Amino acid sequence: MPSIYFTPDHDEFRRQVRRFMEQEIAPQSDAWEETMVIPREAFAALGRLGFLGITFPEEYGGSGADLMFAVIFLEELTRSRLGGFCAAVSVQQFMATQHIFRFGSEELKRAYLMPSITGDKVGALAITEPDTGSDVAAIRTKAVREDGDWVIDGAKTFITNGALGDFYTLAVKTDPTAGAGGVSLIVVDREAPGVNAGRLKKLGWHCSDTAEISFQGVRVPAERLVGKVNMGFYYLMEAFPLERLCGAAISVGSAGLCLQEALAYMKQRTAFGRPLTKYQALTHRLADLSSELEAARQLVYHAAWLMENGHPHERECTMAKLVGSELNQRMADACLQCLGGYGFMEEYPMARFFRDARAGTIVAGTSEIMREILARLMAGDAPSEQGGAEGKAKGPDLAALFNSLPGRLRADKAGWQGVFHFELAGGEPGQWTVEIAGGACRVEPGLKGQADCLVQMDAATYTSIEQGSLDYQAAFMGGKIKVSDLGAMLKYLAAFRPLAS
Ligand SMILES: Cc1cc2nc3c(=O)[nH]c(=O)nc-3n(C[C@H](O)[C@H](O)[C@H](O)COP(=O)(O)OP(=O)(O)OC[C@H]3O[C@@H](n4cnc5c(N)ncnc54)[C@H](O)[C@@H]3O)c2cc1C
Repeated sequence: MPSIYFTPDHDEFRRQVRRFMEQEIAPQSDAWEETMVIPREAFAALGRLGFLGITFPEEYGGSGADLMFAVIFLEELTRSRLGGFCAAVSVQQFMATQHIFRFGSEELKRAYLMPSITGDKVGALAITEPDTGSDVAAIRTKAVREDGDWVIDGAKTFITNGALGDFYTLAVKTDPTAGAGGVSLIVVDREAPGVNAGRLKKLGWHCSDTAEISFQGVRVPAERLVGKVNMGFYYLMEAFPLERLCGAAISVGSAGLCLQEALAYMKQRTAFGRPLTKYQALTHRLADLSSELEAARQLVYHAAWLMENGHPHERECTMAKLVGSELNQRMADACLQCLGGYGFMEEYPMARFFRDARAGTIVAGTSEIMREILARLMAGDAPSEQGGAEGKAKGPDLAALFNSLPGRLRADKAGWQGVFHFELAGGEPGQWTVEIAGGACRVEPGLKGQADCLVQMDAATYTSIEQGSLDYQAAFMGGKIKVSDLGAMLKYLAAFRPLAS
């Protein structure tokens, strides 16, 4: 079907991926679910076809293609008929290796990213722990520096590719006192001494190895740190929209396949002398779901287009993940019902589709967390959405907020030096310089001197954060704030008392 988002090259790529999934992977799906293993050759085959490095640059072995190709790949990946395969492959390409690509050293890229693109290595992203999942900042697995190495102790759970993969991009605490500001990412080999991984039994995704992993005195070289120390939480947050988009694209692909399978069955199955497609009780339910599916699919494409073209996209990726994953569950439930007793039997694919769909609202951020983020963003958006004079961050308000900074400086947290440039879209004036030096703070309108950190957001967002109606972490997660140096920004935030105190 023609679409404003796709060119003939995109369409041809969709045909290629679908052909490969239907002809090479789907025929093996029952065996892989039974043995609970995805053969390594499958990753190698995907690598040979360039399917594991779609958006990565050619210098690392990728295809350097745009994000719309990745969305097509994720939708068509579902033609494998294996939720577990979709999870393993999407984690490999869009989660485990993303942080290494974005923030890792050349050495890390050569050692882990490049062999992941060829399919020679399989990676995992290990964040969740037995005691914490949604609350990423509360992780306790710790890494301490010892004789030039990192020594890691702790435990992770529910990790996709965790038992049979080769390496983990591991979230650890490098400053246990600092909450979100004490998280780092370190690459750890599964076979490193002190790592023990065991598979977990689960409701669906049987071919995917979901693991619990313990780390006991695991020693890795200092160079395995991804990017800067204590910046891991922000690296993870920057990549969350892409994770959500992946979940959303897989969900709409799965829901489309499920509907197609149900309709094919209903055309040939008769009851009371007529095909099931003649019964409105069934078809009207599917008509509703197919309409919702089209809306969710277009939202996925729109979110991807926004991301690809450098527009704010976090809100739309979050919405797409929420509606796509919930729709996929309702679709699988309705389609299973349309097959009657056969829907419950393993002989037909619906039972697996139903089981596999259940994970969608839990992984890559639960539906509750998606709603929480959207709700907080809505609350923060309220002033600018209301419009009118009282909704806008006018000059005197911004001036008052900035001029209050010197009086709110915490001398005990300001023993460092830095120049911050603020660019606040829609503000009057919208440009401010804040300099911290010698335990004092100086504020000036305009951009003065050489900035250590550039902070960009709209004026209403700044006002909402300062007034306490918008949490800065939610604003950051929602893509409403861009900063050039997150480490400097964290120090800045800690250096001021809130407005109300
Ligand atoms: C099959 C599978 C594969 C996975 N793969 C990976 C992986 O590769 N890597 C990885 O790191 N993790 C992985 N996970 C873990 C997954 O990301 C977490 O399960 C998820 O983030 C939820 O965390 P939790 O299980 O600790 O639940 P909790 O955070 O304990 O939440 C429990 C319930 O409380 C709700 N809740 C929590 N906080 C709030 C709040 N503030 N407001 C409202 N409700 C809230 C949640 O939505 C949920 O319903 C996987 C999970 C599964 C099931």
